[in-house]
Amino acid sequence: MGSSIVQRMATPDPSLDPSRDPRTLTAEEWRQLLTPEEFAILRQSATERPYTGRYNDDPGPGAFHCVGCGNRLYGAEHKFHSGCGWPSFFQAVVPGALEVHRDSSHGMVRTEMRCARCGGHLGHIFDDGPRPTGMRHCVNGYAVLHVPAGSDVAPVFAAHRRARPS
Ligand SMILES: [Zn+2]
Repeated sequence: MGSSIVQRMATPDPSLDPSRDPRTLTAEEWRQLLTPEEFAILRQSATERPYTGRYNDDPGPGAFHCVGCGNRLYGAEHKFHSGCGWPSFFQAVVPGALEVHRDSSHGMVRTEMRCARCGGHLGHIFDDGPRPTGMRHCVNGYAVLHVPAGSDVAPVFAAHRRARPS
């Protein structure tokens, strides 16, 4: 109990606070937490240009979490090299990690993925992925944060938030 209080004080991050629903954060609170690229993608459904985001190269064992709220979305074992310019995964860690929506913007009908915890836009799902699912979750690299295997989530997020350019 004591350690959880210390950790919360060391990580004053409202999106990671388990007592707060991240869907109640205001746009201004998100702007304070996120980098401009992260804000544009998660909160405004932007798409980073191909090959410009994080994790086109494999960062190694671990998990990929929503950079907005810390929700664990993908394991490194779900990542595959698609060559499309965005990090690609064939499935989420659990089906409930994501919400899917029909997206008919830009003259196309696509399946949009959002984080099921904070509602942040992540990317789109296509049906040209590898076995066993045949799905390609095309994720904006700036929408996620890699937590190396064996590391705790909160310190990795705290270091990332501190490194945010002001
Ligand atoms: Zn989230």
